[in-house]
Amino acid sequence: MSDDTTDQEYDEYEDDGVDMGAARGMRTDYCGELTPEDEGREVSVCGWVDRRREHGEKLAFIDLRDHTGVVQCVVDEKHDLRSEYVVRITGTIVVRPEGMENAFLDTGGIELRDCEVEILNRAEAPPFPMHSRQDVDETVRLRYRYVDMRRERMQRNLRYRALVQSAVRGAMEDQGFTEIETPLLIASTPEGARDFVVPSRQKPGEFYALPQSPQIFKQLCMVGGMDRYYQIAKCLRDEDLRADRQFEFAQLDAEASFVGQEEVIEFISYAISSATDAVRGVWPEEMPMMSWIDAMEYYGTDKPDTRFDMTLIELTPLFEGTEANVFKTECVKGITVDGGADEVGRNRIDELTEMCKRWGAKGLAWFRVGEDLVLDGGLTKFMTDDEQAGLIHMMGAKQGDLLLLQSGDRHLVRDVLGRLRLEIGKPPIDEGLAFLWVVDFPMFESINDNGDPVAAHHPFTMPHPDDVDYLVRGGGESLLKIRSQAYDLVLNGWELGSGSVRIHDPEIQKSVFAALGFSEEEAEDKFGFLLDAFRYGAPPHAGFAFGIDRLTALLLGEENIREVIAFPKTQSGSDPLTNAPTPIDDRHLTELGLRTLPPAE
Ligand code: ASP
Repeated sequence: MSDDTTDQEYDEYEDDGVDMGAARGMRTDYCGELTPEDEGREVSVCGWVDRRREHGEKLAFIDLRDHTGVVQCVVDEKHDLRSEYVVRITGTIVVRPEGMENAFLDTGGIELRDCEVEILNRAEAPPFPMHSRQDVDETVRLRYRYVDMRRERMQRNLRYRALVQSAVRGAMEDQGFTEIETPLLIASTPEGARDFVVPSRQKPGEFYALPQSPQIFKQLCMVGGMDRYYQIAKCLRDEDLRADRQFEFAQLDAEASFVGQEEVIEFISYAISSATDAVRGVWPEEMPMMSWIDAMEYYGTDKPDTRFDMTLIELTPLFEGTEANVFKTECVKGITVDGGADEVGRNRIDELTEMCKRWGAKGLAWFRVGEDLVLDGGLTKFMTDDEQAGLIHMMGAKQGDLLLLQSGDRHLVRDVLGRLRLEIGKPPIDEGLAFLWVVDFPMFESINDNGDPVAAHHPFTMPHPDDVDYLVRGGGESLLKIRSQAYDLVLNGWELGSGSVRIHDPEIQKSVFAALGFSEEEAEDKFGFLLDAFRYGAPPHAGFAFGIDRLTALLLGEENIREVIAFPKTQSGSDPLTNAPTPIDDRHLTELGLRTLPPAE
């Protein structure tokens, strides 16, 4: 990524043949564009006072900033110019004498002299230092987002975000996709989160839901013969917020007819590659593919961070018939920490053990590999020599390594070791991009407390054709064996998006609803319109959606998606700028047929 974002941005406008000169309004030039080649020219530039330095009695140096960069202007002292004042400066471009250039400024070879200054607006002192290298408190940044947005980081991030979006749009259109807008006020869609609801004034006591995604509408567009649909869609989910989640987020949403998984993966890989190219200037290599079961067994998660190895090694067969009680379990797996015997001290091991317990494990088994490959660790006394030798062999261990093992229920072992792997091995956010398609997801991921299965993707996902017959109500654990035609795209251990081949046959759709525990009436009531549509000639279709915020953040090396959103909510879901959410007045409530209850105890 280059630091001179603004230059690159500007070049891109130029490359696209937009004549910025034609409509420059109050200015003739942009601050960041001026070069020694402009020497002698009289120019007018507009912007904010970035920095101000006195020079003797009469003169001041003003760094004037706009969205393209900064230029130094030599100004008469009589102007009382303060930080962030909005001004227009007209002056003559002078090449700075040798030795006086500023290597840190793109325009450091020149300055503006004989300046005439017009103050367009005064400004209060900014609420935080504009150039601070230290982090400013995020709530303050969001309270004054319009000031924060003037700073380099937000300027860069929002402009790159726009590049991502236009690259994605271009890529989808190149592939024959048509942009179609779907409604915001809808009946509930089942993506598994809570809906945000909007009360209806015309029908008091009734509510619209805001879309968790355009899922059902895009499928209806396929029934409608639109063939290939896309949209950069706003989705709203009332979930707990985290660094990688907001209530509302943007996703590239796509659906296509008469295609399956392979083609969807191709369409989406092309869009993602175009966005990567737009930001990083490189087209990613072919994106590898991994089955869901391999992801779970080798990485302990369905979103493996494949920037580093340290995979989970299966040790169950080694401990068949063991005398060591800890390993008399359904599953034993381990990870090898290269050179960890010395690097990971006793305190750190205790800390890791505590973490494992928080994640649901009983503890953590560990061994240091010493000289002559002799194992050191509290559990060795319960193990036979063969088991010890087998462990070293299976873990591919060498002197100086640390071996960390988990035993117990297979799901738990995978989960705990997967987390441990990330805790120990995860590289910091860096320039590396490890894309991965995870395919062959199961249809259902677990059984809930009512004994009903929980859909791994959503209820419109097509089961594997050979497994359709297993779809029965009350099927219990056996339902977990049903494979689906769902796939995810993962980047550096983040789930970037997911999709599936969809059901287009009303009978299969009904079986899935039944397996999920919906009664026929419930299914008819909630999704009758979709089942109806399927009776009018639904083509086979498949689709996908990926998060624009997440993709942009990862491409820019930002850890938090709020850094790539113009006006995000805080972690607690509020907006310090507008104070949303706010109460509404009683008259408004009455009109909507609503009454608020006192907060629950
Ligand atoms: N509707 C899904 C989602 O938003 C994506 C898809 O299946 O196309 O996660």
